[in-house]
Amino acid sequence: VKRMERNNYRFFTYEMQKEVMEELELENQLRCAIDKRQFSVKYQLKCCPYQRKIVGLEALLRWELGEGKLIPPSQFIPKAEEMGLILPIGRWVLESVAEQASKWLKEGLISESFPISVNLSMRQLMADDLLDDIRNILNRFGVPASCLELEVTESIMMEDPATTIDILKHVHALGVKLSIDDFGTGYSSLSYLRQMPIDTLKIDRSFIQDIGISTQNETIVKAITALSHNLELKVVAEGVENQQQLAFLKKHKCDFIQGYYFGKPVLPGKMTKVLRKAKGNK
Ligand code: C2E
Ligand code: CA
Ligand code: CA
Ligand code: CA
Repeated sequence: VKRMERNNYRFFTYEMQKEVMEELELENQLRCAIDKRQFSVKYQLKCCPYQRKIVGLEALLRWELGEGKLIPPSQFIPKAEEMGLILPIGRWVLESVAEQASKWLKEGLISESFPISVNLSMRQLMADDLLDDIRNILNRFGVPASCLELEVTESIMMEDPATTIDILKHVHALGVKLSIDDFGTGYSSLSYLRQMPIDTLKIDRSFIQDIGISTQNETIVKAITALSHNLELKVVAEGVENQQQLAFLKKHKCDFIQGYYFGKPVLPGKMTKVLRKAKGNK
């Protein structure tokens, strides 16, 4: 028994060591990912299901480590956040989106009232130069602030609500749109929610997934929609994948829909075609 234990122990440390090495390797790769041009941005549609119209896009970062090896954001974003690398990476995303937005604006594929949303991490939100960065990037690419929307998760907002409200008020004053992401998974106090300078609330995918499965979560979806409208906010359902979910959301007056049902995130070239086609059909 003793020997087996010792072997187990050694096997365990070997595995752990391997894991640590792989983590370090990934961290090193992340450090030079911008320089190696391994990042790209995919765009996903936000649609109005009543007028069958595209109302906006969400930008989602992709990291390809060469040879088609994709690392999911759920894996590298927290790491980038930990390492402080999220600041240069986040700036890269903003620049990339602003550059793309200016092209779409020039071609008349999007208008000033068409927001493209970018996800913001905790560190980005708290960075001193956030406001300057946003202003500079928009100016540099000639993109109106109303074409940019920032998504901040409910849990980030509630970490330090007073500071967050203060920062977001300044961002909002630029004309940038704001939305609360993954709503329903954190613990918003209603009084803070009323003070937040936000335009949109996004119902987390976990609740949408349960439509037709859990009446309890259906009740939450209905409640969030009613709450949003009472606060004069727009509400977006994320992760809508099927007709049943869509029908439920329309019945309960959810404003906008995002999810594989209307389209997966795609690279700019493909999105340009989608926008051109939608424009032609108007
Ligand atoms: P999120 O902001 O909640 O983004 C929505 C995620 O759900 C995306 O995953 C999207 O591809 C996925 N999704 C959209 N529709 C559906 C659907 O119908 N079904 C399913 N199963 N999934 C759907 P993705 O792209 O892997 O991103 C994961 C998370 O990584 C994002 O969650 C966001 O928190 C973070 N993230 C992505 N890009 C950035 C970025 O540029 N900066 C920061 N800070 N975070 C980012
Ligand atoms: Ca988001
Ligand atoms: Ca979300
Ligand atoms: Ca989410």
